[in-house]
Amino acid sequence: MRILITGAAGFLGSHLTDALLSDGHTVVGVDNLCTGSLANLKHLANESRFEFVQQDIVEPFDVGKVDYVLNFASPASPVDYARLGPETLSVGSDGTRNALEIARRYGAKFLHASTSECYGDPTVHPQKEDYWGNVNPIGPRSVYDEAKRFSEALTMAYHRYYGVDTRLVRIFNTYGPRLQKNDGRVISNFMVQALKGEDLTVYGEGNQTRSFCYVSDEVEGILRLAHSDEHLPTNIGNPSEWTILECAKAVLRVTGAESKIVFRPLPQDDPMQRKPDISKAKRILGWEPKVDLETGLRLSLEYFRESLTPMEPQTR
Ligand code: NAD
Ligand code: UDP
Repeated sequence: MRILITGAAGFLGSHLTDALLSDGHTVVGVDNLCTGSLANLKHLANESRFEFVQQDIVEPFDVGKVDYVLNFASPASPVDYARLGPETLSVGSDGTRNALEIARRYGAKFLHASTSECYGDPTVHPQKEDYWGNVNPIGPRSVYDEAKRFSEALTMAYHRYYGVDTRLVRIFNTYGPRLQKNDGRVISNFMVQALKGEDLTVYGEGNQTRSFCYVSDEVEGILRLAHSDEHLPTNIGNPSEWTILECAKAVLRVTGAESKIVFRPLPQDDPMQRKPDISKAKRILGWEPKVDLETGLRLSLEYFRESLTPMEPQTR
């Protein structure tokens, strides 16, 4: 297949590109590099089945006939989407529409990268796909959450009204090599802080929870969904739930760092709990994650070590 990946220079997009190339496909990667980096694709410089197009998908574009569109373009970390608020709303709306139009034009299949943020600060725990969520539509996270909720609605509309063969993956916190070291996400911040011997900044009391999925597990789940016929949203994430304080301690164990843990104010609307119910993915895709958090952090250690520069991690 000839596959279009938007957001190909990002963390997940570049890993998906690698996986699809190793499965024998041809990949066209489109990215405007607003949060991604060509460094994530540099190992593909001599790969004849890979082509990179620098393009903002908010503007209409065309890359010729494709068989599949994987729509991953969007700022994804809270620090990035706070900096790029209007752009995040635009890529979720106009950008997703442009990607859907390509699928419609060429009769291609379409998979959209949605998120656990559709559940907001959830009052149902763990989160199942039929939970409609608890999102503040005007809070600081709304530029991301509502963009993703709109993009899910748009994807379902293209399926229902125009018969586009669509899929929706709700991705839960994923980490691993190529996570931008300064994107402010908790794993990047803690790993960089620990490796530099700096204090680990826990927001609030650290009793909010997240469930962290290693990138190879996430990519496998996404590709299984891409090969399935399921049109409704499907959670792909690791259900092993950690408080942020436990996560900080895990990073200290894995890095061997002797950094202190310090506490900083909890950002507004920060979800207090998050854990995917993955019974649907298990049932319809035969998928479940294999890599636990400490193993995944160990697998990411070398990347974070190599990526260290004098640049500071971003804090909110
Ligand atoms: P990332 O920031 O590393 O990658 C996103 C990529 O999209 C970047 O390369 C960026 O330059 C590109 N991009 C953004 N706006 C664009 C635009 N208008 N035109 C073209 N390219 C644009 O983030 P990621 O973690 O790889 O996330 C990829 C996708 O997965 C995003 O849609 C994100 O919302 C979704 N997601 C990720 C996670 C996670 O934990 N990593 C969780 C839920 C959802
Ligand atoms: N967090 C933290 N310290 C940091 C960065 C993040 O305690 O240096 C917390 C943040 O408040 C949130 C959790 O870690 O509760 C996950 O944050 P992240 O930005 O990685 O992703 P989110 O799930 O909030 O989108």
